[in-house]
Amino acid sequence: MLFPFDNSYARLPDRFFARVAPTAVEAPRLVRLNRPLALELGLDPDRLESEGAEILSGRRVPEGAEPLAAAYAGHQFGQFVPQLGDGRAILLGEVVGRDGGRRDIQLKGSGPTPFSRRGDGRAALGPVLREYCVSEAMHALGIPTTRALAVVTTGERVIRETVLPGAVLTRVASSHIRVGSFQFFAARGDVEGLRALADHAIARHDPQAAEAENPYRALLAGVIRRQAELVARWLTVGFIHGVMNTDNMSISGETIDYGPCAFLDTYDPATAFSSIDRHGRYAYGNQPRMALWNLTRLAEALLPLLAEEEDKAVSEAEAALGGFAGLFEAAYHGGLNRKLGLTTAREGDAALAGDLLKTMAENEADFTLTFRRLGDALPEAGAGPRAAEGVRSLFIDPTAFDRWAEGWHRRLADEPGEVASFRRTMRAANPAFIPRNHRVEEMIEAAVERQDFGPFETLLAVLAHPYDDQPDFARYAEPPEGGGRGYRTFCG
Ligand code: AMP
Ligand code: MG
Ligand code: MG
Repeated sequence: MLFPFDNSYARLPDRFFARVAPTAVEAPRLVRLNRPLALELGLDPDRLESEGAEILSGRRVPEGAEPLAAAYAGHQFGQFVPQLGDGRAILLGEVVGRDGGRRDIQLKGSGPTPFSRRGDGRAALGPVLREYCVSEAMHALGIPTTRALAVVTTGERVIRETVLPGAVLTRVASSHIRVGSFQFFAARGDVEGLRALADHAIARHDPQAAEAENPYRALLAGVIRRQAELVARWLTVGFIHGVMNTDNMSISGETIDYGPCAFLDTYDPATAFSSIDRHGRYAYGNQPRMALWNLTRLAEALLPLLAEEEDKAVSEAEAALGGFAGLFEAAYHGGLNRKLGLTTAREGDAALAGDLLKTMAENEADFTLTFRRLGDALPEAGAGPRAAEGVRSLFIDPTAFDRWAEGWHRRLADEPGEVASFRRTMRAANPAFIPRNHRVEEMIEAAVERQDFGPFETLLAVLAHPYDDQPDFARYAEPPEGGGRGYRTFCG
């Protein structure tokens, strides 16, 4: 068997999904297989290489697969939609990897489903390559995420604003259960469905919750903890998800749905790149608040399971949601401290980091480069402003940086360890390489306009080692001309 499938989601009641096979495409060609990921999943990369075009395009359903499109609901930009569902994704099934972890194998762009509404069920090559690159970059950065196993071009055209080449992405996730999956049953008053989904989610993501006094409260607390930590991680690398609708927030705590996402270049917390996010609902600095908003919708959906009496259920929900702020702050400030070389926590650390961010915003400094180069400004004997020039020069007024650095140096004097250990901490917390928007665009253009996948392969290779210096690829660490302001992303 190519995939040793064990399909737990397909064993849930019929109303959880629609059974639907992928629609065959004309001329599938496997343009990328993630061989290391295939090995992690316990799959045979050579067989996948030879049969991938047929199977990962959806033309042939592999043995043991039980293809289905999942039903879910969701709040899109604050508006509740009672039925969304997989409109262009089909779950082939689940495999248990070498690490014992269960993973969904899903084809995205594999044809229409009963949930497609007016959509064509297809994906364009550009957004597929973007998702592959950015999700694998997130993985290399150490941030929980869905993964990309393969890209197959379809030989067919998809019609968007223009006519574009089509592709199918094979997405791997520890599950595709979303906040919106719970909302689907809650909105229908289907408490039995809700309970079956919650029990399934507990088995997959919070097995210890089954032993808790209130397992559903423990599930909710688990999701809150994972999401709080996830959003904190996003902020520490300058990631903007772009479409944090409740159907795009995974219970597993993995980043999912790489439609209009993008990384900050110039630091400005109000940055929102997505063309449809006109009011900045999902702007960089709003993401923690939006995560809590989404989690509040999850808690509402779970109310019927939290307690018999409504008052009791509401207080259980409130108690769990009350944990978000502390979990987020701890993860965020811990992350910021490591970016400054600090592994202990002291009073005043949050203000110190906050002052740097404020100075960066006022001086239009590049987020990633500022932190990466901060190590050059560590207080070393013999090193002076000249060593720090690389970071100083990122600030419109370099003396604003100098003023901040005085306080940072005082704090470091109080930190156990020495400059070499501070530097190690910082190098492991401050990537040199992120998927810079202009590099992603140039990669997509080469593939789409010229069928040249060279830049895609190069970008993937560079982004696989974000914390290494890679001097031969230094240009991939550079920000775009003009700091990337005005960049726009689309849902694909
Ligand atoms: P998203 O904005 O990616 O979260 O998608 C929102 C909803 O639209 C989901 O139910 C998707 O499955 C559906 N959708 C997005 N694009 C398409 C498409 N091309 N064809 C069918 N459904 C789509
Ligand atoms: Mg989505
Ligand atoms: Mg999407």
